[in-house]
Amino acid sequence: MKKTGIMSAMVEELDILLKHLKNKKTQTIGQREYYCGELWGHNVVLVFSRWGKVAASSTTTTLITEFKVDEIIFSGVAGALDGDINIGDVIVAENLFQHDFDASPFLLRHVLPLIMKKEIATNSRIKHKLFDAGSDFFNKQFKEEISSEYLEEFDIDKPKILMGNIASGDQFIRDSKKRDEIRQSLDNVLAVEMEGAAVAQVCYEFEVPLGVIRTISDDANDEAIKDFPKFVYNVASQYSFFIIKNYLGHKH
Ligand code: SAH
Repeated sequence: MKKTGIMSAMVEELDILLKHLKNKKTQTIGQREYYCGELWGHNVVLVFSRWGKVAASSTTTTLITEFKVDEIIFSGVAGALDGDINIGDVIVAENLFQHDFDASPFLLRHVLPLIMKKEIATNSRIKHKLFDAGSDFFNKQFKEEISSEYLEEFDIDKPKILMGNIASGDQFIRDSKKRDEIRQSLDNVLAVEMEGAAVAQVCYEFEVPLGVIRTISDDANDEAIKDFPKFVYNVASQYSFFIIKNYLGHKH
């Protein structure tokens, strides 16, 4: 049976999935706990990625080389880079960039050495399946499952799911100047976070299919981070749970 690595960028997302994991076996490698077992009849390995590109790359490599996963689904939260994207929206990643990578003058800014391109694409099949899983979540589960108290608090009215590019780097972006610079220097980037592109690079090199979903938690600006932990616990981790559940439940 296929084995899916499910990596969470937030501990709260992992905690909800763990409550549903059957036949759990835990293994600790490199200060990370990997939880093997079954989720709704699927073979899975769950793990918290930890934060930043280096940490997430290391976790990904272990998932691939030690646990031999056949595919990886990576979830987390991200800052919006585009004014039309709001807190509570979901982005399914198409291409991922490392916005802080710059080996000029040897290579053009953002081009990754040896790989020789700026962007790494996610797997097309997984991307579409995640998009369907997310659309189903918004259409069928969202109203019932996400408490209106939090929707009001975080001003989430008509959340949407989009497919698009994501930029990753080792900085929490909370400054409009930096945010605008990232947006302007890369093609069509919708969101910024700290891990996705690193995970994508490892998956690309090992030829492991990857899908990435990110719930928008802030607008990468100063006033944005109203109540980050509260949002992650009550909204984003619920989103991830249902989208992953729908993903594993989908037939195609
Ligand atoms: N709460 C943690 C810090 C989380 S790091 C602590 O106490 O240390 C922030 C996480 O949110 C990372 O997984 C990152 O990918 C994501 N993220 C959300 N908004 C972001 C933004 N504006 N810029 C960069 N990363 C962001």
